[in-house]
Amino acid sequence: MAKFLLLCLLALIGATGLCHQATAESDPGWNIHLDDSQLQPGGLLRIDVDPSQAAAHIDWGEIRVPLVPLTAENRLAAFLGIPRDTKPGPVILQLTVTDRQGREHRHTLPLVIKPREFPVQRLKVPESYVSPDPEILARHQREQAEVRAALAGSRPEQLWRQPFRKPLQGAVSSPFGVQRMFNDQPRSTHSGVDLRAPSGHPVAAAGDGVVILTGDHYFSGRSVYIDHGMGLITMYFHLSEILVENGQSVTAGQIIGRVGSTGRSTGPHLHWGLRVHDCRVDPLALPALFTQ
Ligand SMILES: [Zn+2]
Repeated sequence: MAKFLLLCLLALIGATGLCHQATAESDPGWNIHLDDSQLQPGGLLRIDVDPSQAAAHIDWGEIRVPLVPLTAENRLAAFLGIPRDTKPGPVILQLTVTDRQGREHRHTLPLVIKPREFPVQRLKVPESYVSPDPEILARHQREQAEVRAALAGSRPEQLWRQPFRKPLQGAVSSPFGVQRMFNDQPRSTHSGVDLRAPSGHPVAAAGDGVVILTGDHYFSGRSVYIDHGMGLITMYFHLSEILVENGQSVTAGQIIGRVGSTGRSTGPHLHWGLRVHDCRVDPLALPALFTQ
């Protein structure tokens, strides 16, 4: 269904000298697939093992992510986000697979992160935007605690049954990862993409999932967070109206709210975000993995 650029790492083990510490050669049927089309900062990696083994997990530095069964496919899979500030160059992923006899097989997967340039955007904003007062900061911290609590309840299993899509068709007015300068002072980098659309324009769920948080927050305005399982959470900010409730199941394309300019926003648009196991990556990477 998807235009996956599947790279058979097993085939490369001999060719590239991948460190291979286990007994894979004597285990016919081992196939490790990696979609490497987004090996860049802000990218989204899908790693899968085919056919289904008893259990598997991937380690990348401090991050450990389990592989879970994909519905309708005889595979275990996991998604990994590549942080925006990852330096280009070699990185090592460790894949551990436990077979049905309980034997562990460890693979070292060397990858090369490609360079990616992020633009700089200069904005003139009221001085209060640059130095928010302590009351606002305290409110922001309370809201962030609420967000963290909601994210902690995300589900490990796959909750979607159809490809992901963009929440609306507007042009990108501010891409992921932009270094923002407010009145010439560097601020945090842009954690999602801004999609241009008029106020009131419908906003659709990017994929099937469960609403884990709705709120009206100081910075993000009226917001919806959708858990898609497997560590994938999409976020929709600055809405004028929210049309779903906490705990509600939604399907891809279902209207969940309307475009607005609530919170810290300079005009109507949708800020769309994607978290992958707590790493914020370019949300456009998600539908790209499911493009026909
Ligand atoms: Zn934005």
